[in-house]
Amino acid sequence: MKSETCFGKVSGQPLTQYFDEEEALSGAEYAKEYYDNDLSPYHCNKCGLWHLSPKSRQTPSHKCNHCTGGDGVHKDSYRSKREANLRADIIYGEQGIRLKVYQCKFSSGWHLTKSAY
Ligand SMILES: [Zn+2]
Ligand SMILES: [Zn+2]
Repeated sequence: MKSETCFGKVSGQPLTQYFDEEEALSGAEYAKEYYDNDLSPYHCNKCGLWHLSPKSRQTPSHKCNHCTGGDGVHKDSYRSKREANLRADIIYGEQGIRLKVYQCKFSSGWHLTKSAY
């Protein structure tokens, strides 16, 4: 099923939507088998459903032990400035929220923030 609310940032085409992670995973397996596309599912904050995105756009992160956001939740920490910027671009494309990248004061990771830093 094609999404009515979410569009590919590059293609401008409606994204395929899945109602749960399992369905999205089988969609990813299908794409791998038939098109040799390496995709992995992600949960979309905009529509609340699941889409697939290329693995090259995935940005692994872990929770920073030192930094918490305004809501008291530990911040996501990215391994490099490049990956943090990539994540910021993805969030901007999906949610229209422009985030700033800054280096963690306490570790080698990189964080995103909404506020001007
Ligand atoms: Zn969506
Ligand atoms: Zn930190």
